[in-house]
Amino acid sequence: MRSLHPLFVLVALLTVSPALAEDAPKAAEKSQSAEAEKPRCEHGVQKSLCTRCNPKLAAVFKAKGDWCAEHERPESQCSLCHPDLAKKGVK
Ligand SMILES: [Zn+2]
Ligand SMILES: [Zn+2]
Repeated sequence: MRSLHPLFVLVALLTVSPALAEDAPKAAEKSQSAEAEKPRCEHGVQKSLCTRCNPKLAAVFKAKGDWCAEHERPESQCSLCHPDLAKKGVK
């Protein structure tokens, strides 16, 4: 059971994947105050961080150790392991 701060995830993604840099500034601003305003995908997670929409992101989360092997998604996005995420709309 572990959850990472959204900003930490962003920073890690920026470090590993420059292609995602375009989304970072505005996403970082919003993550400070209004979590609900982040653009979300059909899975209820921040679209630019969704491994189910962007399978290539899986390697990034795995490299950080933020990965739920049982459910094949980042631990920080796993509503099955973290019911509190489900309450926020994560599927
Ligand atoms: Zn998605
Ligand atoms: Zn899980």
